Amino acid sequence: MRLAISACLCGCRCRYDGGGYDQYPQLRRLVARGEAIAVCPEVLGGLPTPRTPCERRGARVVDARGVDRTEAYRMGAARAVARACSFGAGAVILKEKSPSCGTYYVYNGRFARKIIQGQGIASERFRAAGFGVYSEMDLARDAQLLAALCAR
Ligand code: SF4
Repeated sequence: MRLAISACLCGCRCRYDGGGYDQYPQLRRLVARGEAIAVCPEVLGGLPTPRTPCERRGARVVDARGVDRTEAYRMGAARAVARACSFGAGAVILKEKSPSCGTYYVYNGRFARKIIQGQGIASERFRAAGFGVYSEMDLARDAQLLAALCAR
C-alpha cells in the first residue's frame, strides 16, 4: 500500500518553528523510493513557515495571538487528502499532537502545554475519506506496523 506521511516526520523543516524530525529515516526512504508522499497540511493551507503556533479549540483552530485560522486548516486538510488520493495512498502516518495531524492527542486550545485526547483537522478529514490513520506513536508501539502497511 502507498502511504501519505506528515512532511515534518520525513525531515522537512515545515513545523511552526521551522523544525522537522530526523529520527525516522525509514519514512524518508519510503518517500525517496516513491512509495510514500510527504504532505504538510498547514503549508498546503497557505500558512508560512515559521508561523505563530496554533491549537485546536473545539471545531476551530486559533493561533497564540487569538486569530482564528480554521479556514486555512480546513483548506490544507482538503488539499492534503486530495494529494494523497491522487498519489494512490490508502493510509497515512501523521505527527501526533498537531492541530492538523494529531491522531490521538492534541493540545487543549489554551496554550497551556496541556494535552487532551482528540485529533487534528487533517487527521479528521483523512479518516472521513476512508484512509487508515496512524501516528508516529503507532510506529513506536509496533515495530512491524510499517512493513505491514507497505506489504498490503
Ligand atoms: Fe508536520 Fe502536520 Fe504540522 Fe505540517 S501540519 S508541520 S506535517 S505536524
